[in-house]
Amino acid sequence: MTNCNTVVPFFSSRIMLDELRPALERALARVIDSGQSILGDELSAFERQFATYCGVSHAIGVASGLDALALILRALGIDRESEVIVPGQTFVATWLAADQVGARLVPVDIDPVTFNIDHRAVKSAITKRTRAIIAVHLYGQPAEMHELSSLARQFNIDLIEDAAQAHGAMYYGRRAGGLGKAAAFSFYPTKNLGALGDGGAVTTDDPELAERIRGLRNYGSTKKYHHEVPGVNSRLDELQAAFLSARLPHLDAKNGRRREIANAYSGHLRDLPELKVPTVPDGTEPVWHLYVVRSRVRDTLRARLDEEGIGTLIHYPIPPHLQKVYAGTYLQAATLPHTELAASEVLSLPMWPEMSDAEVSRVACSVRKAAVALG
Ligand SMILES: *Cc1c(COP(=O)(O)O)cnc(C)c1O
Repeated sequence: MTNCNTVVPFFSSRIMLDELRPALERALARVIDSGQSILGDELSAFERQFATYCGVSHAIGVASGLDALALILRALGIDRESEVIVPGQTFVATWLAADQVGARLVPVDIDPVTFNIDHRAVKSAITKRTRAIIAVHLYGQPAEMHELSSLARQFNIDLIEDAAQAHGAMYYGRRAGGLGKAAAFSFYPTKNLGALGDGGAVTTDDPELAERIRGLRNYGSTKKYHHEVPGVNSRLDELQAAFLSARLPHLDAKNGRRREIANAYSGHLRDLPELKVPTVPDGTEPVWHLYVVRSRVRDTLRARLDEEGIGTLIHYPIPPHLQKVYAGTYLQAATLPHTELAASEVLSLPMWPEMSDAEVSRVACSVRKAAVALG
């Protein structure tokens, strides 16, 4: 019997932080004792652990997911002469990274079933100036990397993963982070692997690219007071690296619990006429950063759930090409019908690994009740 008066927030890290408090306090003590706060042993250790976890040879800690993407593009020499293909549906940071290096953004529509970039549309968007494709593993669901890799090979383009929502996601037995030329991760606190502040990482198997990014993140320097290129200051600090090392060993179990919650939701909701539950394509193991349903009556459904005390969010209500930042540019006129329809229909249900079974049932039963009433 679930208690129908309890409130279920969209996200909460309180229980996770309580569970982890002793490990986080030990990490803090280690950093204080070491006397190092930037580019020290904690960062090197976390970089090794995270590279191993992703199944690649290099991880480079940086200040954020946005910086991770921008540094990859810079290190690949992508500039104003280059076109970069990006999905229509994503968090705006994917687009801003390409903007930062001055590249021409070429937005491509999504597959309406997976919400990920549609490889057929990518193929039609490739020109002589295309230098990179950024594939976002949206909501923690791997993009169609086989098809995208073969396009990248055929046209000699770099395939970059935006894995900011996909720590631990699997694609045909391999982890996100090792599926392209390089991958960008974010450790923003609400991501599947989050710091206690901002953070990010680049993963790659390319030793030269890794070395260039190590330089770029540190004022363009790999040897103290020698500056080879105009770099930036974008480092993952020792404290965040130590916190992340404390969390990483729990990532698989936490992702497993997200999968359980997703399966419970889908089990309860799959037969409702006014609601579409997520589809999991063959060969993929998503990590359920978000659990996103679609409904033509999304706004009414959301209002009903709000009255019931169920927190929901929309990822994302305004696609990047319709954001004010691109008003008056060619991007505003982009034809992205699946992206625009998704923006009006998607709804993210509460999803965090420490949700109790009672909370999961409460959400499922409230969504069901509201959807039946609207259908
Ligand atoms: C969170 C996120 C980013 C940006 O990461 P930050 O660490 O917040 O800069 C980029 N892309 C996607 C898909 C994200 O979800």
